[in-house]
Amino acid sequence: PLYQKAQYLKSVPTLDLCPEDLKYEVAFAGRSNAGKSSALNVITSQKSLARTSKTPGRTQLINFFVLDEERALVDLPGYGFAKVNVKVKRAWEAGLSEYIEKRPQLKGVVLLMDSRMPPTDIDITMLDWTQHLELPVHILLTKSDKLKKGPAKANLLKLKKLLKEEYPHATAQLFSSLKREGLVEVWNKLDEWMEY
Ligand code: GDP
Repeated sequence: PLYQKAQYLKSVPTLDLCPEDLKYEVAFAGRSNAGKSSALNVITSQKSLARTSKTPGRTQLINFFVLDEERALVDLPGYGFAKVNVKVKRAWEAGLSEYIEKRPQLKGVVLLMDSRMPPTDIDITMLDWTQHLELPVHILLTKSDKLKKGPAKANLLKLKKLLKEEYPHATAQLFSSLKREGLVEVWNKLDEWMEY
């Protein structure tokens, strides 16, 4: 409901250019095609909010969507390096880790992972970084409508087992943008981090 108010503010390449007067931010991260844009659109009940951050030139930027004077959702550049060289990858990692490590406004990270696939190396890197910072993470196992209930639940339980053993700062749930499954659960997590 509050998230419907999300409005595109700006896109920046580096931490030093991030807006100054915000107090609470929740960042969305995930490999390309994980379903991040679809999730952002459903969470904000806007048809094409995240299209803004998918326009050419913005996919590698940090995109800010403000909710009110103090709060914003932040769409981080997607990862997926099939066609990207090592130098670009390094630059991306440096930019992202800087934002995550040095942004006091950042209260939590929503990490999007395809429910049909095991965590990628870069998902694990993100879990390691955030763990080290004691920054909470909430994983959305996306496109859950593509699996039957049993296998979807099994994948969630498997992930939860890994989290319990190695990443206790992280929580997880199933999510489908298509069916709007898990939406209330995400909103509740965002409310908690945003102190709504
Ligand atoms: P992004 O690259 O992470 O922003 O991913 P997108 O949101 O653009 O989604 C990538 C592809 O997955 C698109 O073809 C979407 O239509 C599809 N997709 C995203 N979310 C869902 C979902 O909940 N269910 C299904 N079946 N497909 C989805």
